[in-house]
Amino acid sequence: MRIVFVGPPGSGKGTQAKVLCERFSIPQVSTGDMLRAAKAEGRLPAEIVQAMASGGLVPDLVVIKLIDQRTAQADAKAGFLLDGFPRTVPQAEALGTMLGANALRLDAVIALDVPEELLIERAIHRRTDKRTGQIYHLQYKPPPPDADLEHRHDDHEDVVRKRLATYLAMTADLLPYYEKAGLLTRVNGVGEVSEVTDRCLAALNLVVNRGGSHG
Ligand code: AMP
Repeated sequence: MRIVFVGPPGSGKGTQAKVLCERFSIPQVSTGDMLRAAKAEGRLPAEIVQAMASGGLVPDLVVIKLIDQRTAQADAKAGFLLDGFPRTVPQAEALGTMLGANALRLDAVIALDVPEELLIERAIHRRTDKRTGQIYHLQYKPPPPDADLEHRHDDHEDVVRKRLATYLAMTADLLPYYEKAGLLTRVNGVGEVSEVTDRCLAALNLVVNRGGSHG
């Protein structure tokens, strides 16, 4: 199973990606995680650190090389779930070329759909207990009176709106590209975690059943 997984910040994409990876015994491959690891080890050039810090994109060639190396490793031979890559059409094209060189192709691109206003509502009501790391929602999952609450910087409305705008700009080209290729499935991301997982699995089963899965 070779999957590209796309979803706006705060959509529960990370949670769903983990479940799907366990289900299919495939690694979750995240360019963001790889870049952060390289940065922590001091292996990232200053201009790339700067691009990440400012919320901009790292050059296509850098992330394409990371994906090329990572997907060639033994644990990715039977498949992988890409999280945070591709972000641009040239990256998507490079991925297609990479896979094609090994007679492989993507099975599916899943885009989690969550309405913008719901994402903002969730973020502005989300609080974390600094001592326990437990996450609360001020209305739907209220914290206990003794909690030491923090409202994360990137959960403030202005920052959330900016991150969503970046996501929309990214997917504006990417999703139509995969739709044209017949690979895109949009999954309703509103509901309980298990409900959304079931929808993702149903979407992937359809792909397998129509013979879209290779090796
Ligand atoms: P993420 O954790 O996926 O949000 O990635 C963190 C940061 O790494 C992003 O804000 C970008 O600066 C950089 N990055 C991660 N993946 C990519 C990608 N596919 N293309 C360009 N930049 C990326």
